[in-house]
Amino acid sequence: MREARIDLSAIRDNVAKIRRLVAPARVLAVVKANGYGHGLELAARAALEGGADQLGVADLAEALQLRAAGIDAPVLAWLHAPDADFDAAVDAGIEIGVSSREQLERAVGAVVHLKIDTGLSRNGIPPADWDAAVARAAELERTGVLRVRGVWSHLANAGARETERQRRRFEDAVAAARAAGLDPEVRHLAASEAAIAAPATRYDLVRIGIAMYGLPPAEDVDVAALGLRPAMELAASVAAVRRVPAGRASRTASCIAPSARRRSRSCLWATPTGCRAPRRARRRSRSAAAGIPSSAGSRWTSASSTWATRTWRSAIASWCGATPRPEHPPRRTGRPPPAQSATRSSRASARVCPGCRRERPRADDRRP
Ligand SMILES: *Cc1c(COP(=O)(O)O)cnc(C)c1O
Repeated sequence: MREARIDLSAIRDNVAKIRRLVAPARVLAVVKANGYGHGLELAARAALEGGADQLGVADLAEALQLRAAGIDAPVLAWLHAPDADFDAAVDAGIEIGVSSREQLERAVGAVVHLKIDTGLSRNGIPPADWDAAVARAAELERTGVLRVRGVWSHLANAGARETERQRRRFEDAVAAARAAGLDPEVRHLAASEAAIAAPATRYDLVRIGIAMYGLPPAEDVDVAALGLRPAMELAASVAAVRRVPAGRASRTASCIAPSARRRSRSCLWATPTGCRAPRRARRRSRSAAAGIPSSAGSRWTSASSTWATRTWRSAIASWCGATPRPEHPPRRTGRPPPAQSATRSSRASARVCPGCRRERPRADDRRP
């Protein structure tokens, strides 16, 4: 009834484009959370084919999964449970993001990236502990216990001023690491949003997650203008069609049948790809309204704009007693429309809903 379609060539092309954009900085492709739902191994291979220099995941289990799949590219893992097995990571050649003195002591034999907390307050070594941490790291490096390959941090993406504040703290941290005798080969700070919008944060490496899947890291980042395209499309068969009075509120993502647009009643359809905030049937023109509760009590999550293929639009229109409109021009991406299904794009799509013409897919806040 529903499926996620993954376009690996989109991941490949997106990585290649981002790489050109941020050069000479290198690209670490973030494939945590099952490759943001695209499949860990598939996303990793596509990113490497696109020219990613390195992979990154949150936890060691994912890093080991990449190794088990035969992927031998450099992998950094950065979010560790207190009992995380660093020995297994070292054996598998996984680089370890170190966020505390305690982790530093356990990283025997490892290649590490020391993380400073510059203000996100998720993890990272607190600034108050930084000098002691880099001094200890330098000592461990001198005695051959570990190697410090990177110094890094993660931005809060809380506006340009906060980014600049964090960037300066990061610079101070790098300077302190050097003063302690470390010589980190890679400094990295930016994830997708800053890598695109704040060139000063690119340093030697950028960690690209959401953008490589073709989705915007923030509402105001136009990834389509950068030539990036969504790698995932959700498709589902139409589950229900209803006529509702204009103005009726609902929690179902749907779209009026094209030829019912200019009526005061909206003809709506629903797919099991999801719903989000309540929306209201519009009185005239445009799109999107709903009157259909989700079936069987199950919540449909995460939908943006939805549209039907020509076949379904005709079927829906005839159910609603409306005359089908003539065929719409092909979608801008040139991808063939899936047969017998309604699809919705993921949130970066700049495509126009064929049923609504003007309705763009809505931002979807869900992130892996
Ligand atoms: C998830 C993550 C990223 C990628 O972030 P995007 O905004 O998806 O590009 C980068 N760095 C760290 C530490 C992360 O956890």
